[in-house]
Amino acid sequence: MLSETKEKAEMTAQIIAQQKNTVILTGAGMSTESGIPDFRSESGWWRKIDPLSIATAEAVEENYSLFHEFYSDRLSTLSECRPHEGHYCLASWEKSGLVTLVATQNVDGFHQKAGSVNVEELHGSIHRFRCHNCGEIADKEEFMRQTTCRECEGKLRPSVVLFGEMLPETAWQRSMELVEKAELVLVIGSSLQVYPVSQLPAITRGKTALINRDETSADTDFDLVMKGSAKEILQYMDNYLKNAEV
Ligand code: NAD
Repeated sequence: MLSETKEKAEMTAQIIAQQKNTVILTGAGMSTESGIPDFRSESGWWRKIDPLSIATAEAVEENYSLFHEFYSDRLSTLSECRPHEGHYCLASWEKSGLVTLVATQNVDGFHQKAGSVNVEELHGSIHRFRCHNCGEIADKEEFMRQTTCRECEGKLRPSVVLFGEMLPETAWQRSMELVEKAELVLVIGSSLQVYPVSQLPAITRGKTALINRDETSADTDFDLVMKGSAKEILQYMDNYLKNAEV
């Protein structure tokens, strides 16, 4: 890891330890080291498929077989992956009273799997299913078998937020509230291109830090920018918190 990154990681860890009021905001880059591709990197999903042809309500209605194939494929990738050390670091910081919330754009459920309790899923979850038409809850088996809704025979889908859909109201409100009050907002692995989550870091009265492998157009808005692997930087910060008197 570059010495500049180490220095900034130590500065970020000091704020986390001293202020005890950090909100974490994660994106797809948090889970790439678990084996789940992100959307916009070189090897991301969007390089292979046009998002607007799949992750939309129109695709559910007009191109269901492609929509179903895309999400079944993501579900089977997910079944072979698990949270990495970075997810566990965040969960342990929450247990120690340093982190008040993990707000995530990820739908993979890995923060909860690693032990984080205070999690808001801003883009929903790929592990819950419902009818696109009436909202009736469905289960994974029904979705995988491509059956229709028990109530209205509508099409089944994962409870993820598709392009153009509203974010879950409670998750959004709670995230805004805690981000605003936070002493530090630490964004991990997001290109910050998806609205409205991209607006969240700017509403805090506290400091802002970003861990990302690639540059983003929002880099200059952050107090601290750390370039590199989310897993490595979080582990480095975790060791620093354990070893240093901060
Ligand atoms: P994005 O693909 O636009 O950006 C990911 C960012 O993470 C990039 O800037 C990339 O440089 C960085 N990155 C990739 N691997 C990294 C690593 N190991 N360490 C540090 N940084 C890394 O993702 P986004 O901003 O989250 O885009 C939002 C959309 O992606 C959301 O709607 C989200 O639901 C969806 N998504 C979720 C998952 C998931 O649940 N795991 C996977 C793919 C996409």
